[in-house]
Amino acid sequence: MKPEKALIFEMSRPGRVAYSLPECDVTEIETSSAIPEAMLRRKPAELPEVCEVDVIRHYTELSRRNFGIDNGFYPLGSCTMKYNPKINEDVARFAGFAKIHPYQPEESIQGALELLYTLQNDLAALTGMEQVTLQPAAGAHGEWTGLMLIRAYHESRGETRTKVIVPDTSHGTNPASATVAGFETVTVPSDAEGMVDLEALRAAVGSDTAALMLTNPNTLGLFEKRIVEIAEIVHDAGGLLYYDGANSNAIMGIARPGDMGFDVVHLNLHKTMSTPHGGGGPGAGPVGVKRELVPFLPRPTVIRREDGRYGWDWDRPRSIGRVKAYSGNFGILVRAYAYIRTYGPEGLRRVSELAVLNANYMRSRLSPYFDVPYPGVCKHEFVLSGKRLKEHGVRTLDAAKRLLDFGYHPPTIYFPLNVEECLMIEPTETESKETLDAFIETMIRIVREAETDPQLVLNAPHTTAVKRLDEATAARKPVLNCSCGV
Ligand SMILES: *Cc1c(COP(=O)(O)O)cnc(C)c1O
Repeated sequence: MKPEKALIFEMSRPGRVAYSLPECDVTEIETSSAIPEAMLRRKPAELPEVCEVDVIRHYTELSRRNFGIDNGFYPLGSCTMKYNPKINEDVARFAGFAKIHPYQPEESIQGALELLYTLQNDLAALTGMEQVTLQPAAGAHGEWTGLMLIRAYHESRGETRTKVIVPDTSHGTNPASATVAGFETVTVPSDAEGMVDLEALRAAVGSDTAALMLTNPNTLGLFEKRIVEIAEIVHDAGGLLYYDGANSNAIMGIARPGDMGFDVVHLNLHKTMSTPHGGGGPGAGPVGVKRELVPFLPRPTVIRREDGRYGWDWDRPRSIGRVKAYSGNFGILVRAYAYIRTYGPEGLRRVSELAVLNANYMRSRLSPYFDVPYPGVCKHEFVLSGKRLKEHGVRTLDAAKRLLDFGYHPPTIYFPLNVEECLMIEPTETESKETLDAFIETMIRIVREAETDPQLVLNAPHTTAVKRLDEATAARKPVLNCSCGV
């Protein structure tokens, strides 16, 4: 056993500092005159007073307790935790990208504007859309933006449509975004094959349908084969089709939402195109639309003027307005641009082919050990059911916790909601066969443990810094400051 390390607050000694700065040689502003009285701190903040190395050790220690894609395999379904080339991080930090300001004169940021313009066009080409806005900061934000565009479109035709249809496998953000955008959501069930139930869809669609939101492949990892028919049903009723493209790992360079009949698409650049995703960092959820919706796109858009120079276009009278400060999360857009340029069209297609191959390899090797609710070929992810483990008193959650002991991040569990004891696995294209095999062997081992020594699994994790957390209380009564009474 390592001796317990002192906590940073216990190490605090009055007057100790973690910085070395020269004497201040500018006149300090009298804080009381610069800051309103009500906002002034009454008593000094209780911060630990420690030296520089101890601060560094404290934060390094905390970072080691975290699990990231650079620590190990992270097969989180619906979330695409893949290796993102480190060189894209370097590119995003180039001074010409990182040190500019969006309010600089256009002439001085031509390179950045060209990047945005090219990225817009690349994403439009990849999704089969007419034009793309890069403003939205995340997938959910893209959904909301897309729904506001759909509302503006219907209103421009003098129609008030109040309902958004989602399948029961939809990501939770879909109904949430629809609600925030002022629509009522209607859920349609999936059929026995995990596809949208067409009869139920026909019954749900009507003159009040604003849109159907769909993910294809859906969150079961299955491709909606009857997508063209689905599009017809919705379009015939005057509704639009919204494509949740958060996870585009399966279709890049192979299939385009625009060709399937979708009118609006969002992508999660932070899942599919570089940028480590997770942990609440910045993201980007660009939205692409078909021609009829272009006038409503957020402004300003980036344009190429007749003289070949790039600029902001504010002159868009029918725009829904701005949805994000400046031009979106620019650093994330730079990473996505670098990702697309590095792979090129052929490379992106290869990414998708390998993502699908890896998922099918794992699915077929793991299938004998679990219940498989939807057998057959999957796309970039697949679902298993851990309900057989229940015979031994073990639940999917316990198996997921046991994976932590072997250095794996667990897959997504209990989603989609229509699969009992669901495990949703997405290996991604960036893992070697050896890694996939090692994970498969570990999953099989845990199934055997559940059968022979269930207590071992029930008490997991055994090796992590913290054991089982009370997640419900943490979510309902979050303690967001440290307990030192700051
Ligand atoms: C992640 C995800 C979203 C939401 O994206 P955020 O960037 O987290 O807001 C929406 N739909 C699907 C299918 C997703 O996997």
